[in-house]
Amino acid sequence: MGEIISGRTLAASLKQKMAEEVATFESKYGRVPQLTVILVGEDPGSVSYVTGKAKSCAEVGINNSTVRLSDKTTEEELLTLIAQLNTDDAVDGILVQLPLPKHIDSDKVIAAINQEKDVDGFHPLNVAALWQKQPCTLPCTPKGIIKMLKSKNIAMAGKTAVVIGRSNIVGLPVSKLLLDENATVTICHSRTPNLKEVCLKADILVVAIGRPKMVTGDMVKEGAVVIDVGVNRNPETGKLCGDCDFDSCVEKALFITPVPGGVGPMTICCLMENTIECFLKKH
Ligand code: NDP
Repeated sequence: MGEIISGRTLAASLKQKMAEEVATFESKYGRVPQLTVILVGEDPGSVSYVTGKAKSCAEVGINNSTVRLSDKTTEEELLTLIAQLNTDDAVDGILVQLPLPKHIDSDKVIAAINQEKDVDGFHPLNVAALWQKQPCTLPCTPKGIIKMLKSKNIAMAGKTAVVIGRSNIVGLPVSKLLLDENATVTICHSRTPNLKEVCLKADILVVAIGRPKMVTGDMVKEGAVVIDVGVNRNPETGKLCGDCDFDSCVEKALFITPVPGGVGPMTICCLMENTIECFLKKH
């Protein structure tokens, strides 16, 4: 039976340390960091993510303002708002909650955010810096995954890592970070034949597909580390569940992350860290 890596517990302790650090900022720098979150529309998932981010900001002592815009907002209006926030010295981090309504070009919006305020690490210059191993703001979910592995002293160097998913926000960047930790990385996607065969080779299996319980215990090597990034609604119970079938995977894994309470809280924790880093770079 594998040991559960609780992202919730790890995030709570990291946020506690950040709160202690932020508490010194007012006297050192005259103010605390400011994160502005832009939410376009009323997508329930996005509303809940934005609420979670605001709650974490409050815990850490970061000022948060959430700008709620109607789903009729035009791309031009959103770009104008971002331009204003870019030049506002009081704003350290800008986060545009994704996904955006279809009539708005997300790539264009992300590229419009000042790289130094890009707390999500999605700006093309931050992405380029990541792939060139230059200092940059790392995307929150991949950063959180590496922190979870390190928190349990899980060796990555020389290990076989398999990542399922090749999105810009999870699959690709986490693959690069694992590579930087000297793992041998295989990236799988919807066109990968023999997925089970590839997964069975993994010492570290990172699953970011977006399909409830797709990875089952028979796809996990005995003693592997399983990181479940997926956040889905279980079609039977309506409750949150991951991309892994937890009950069968935990039987094979040495370590496994739960959903909820695994990667999700670490993503938000890293957002707090990125906001503080952006603030400190200015001071
Ligand atoms: P995307 O939809 O952007 O990417 C999904 C990836 O899974 C794609 O690369 C796709 O392949 C691949 N895939 C789809 N079906 C299969 C299949 N049958 N076999 C193998 N690969 C497949 O999703 P994201 O990366 O944005 O998110 C993945 C999951 O992680 C979602 O559940 C999301 O909600 C969750 N998430 C959780 C976060 C957290 O903080 N916990 C943060 C971000 C995301 P292809 O490229 O070929 O289409």
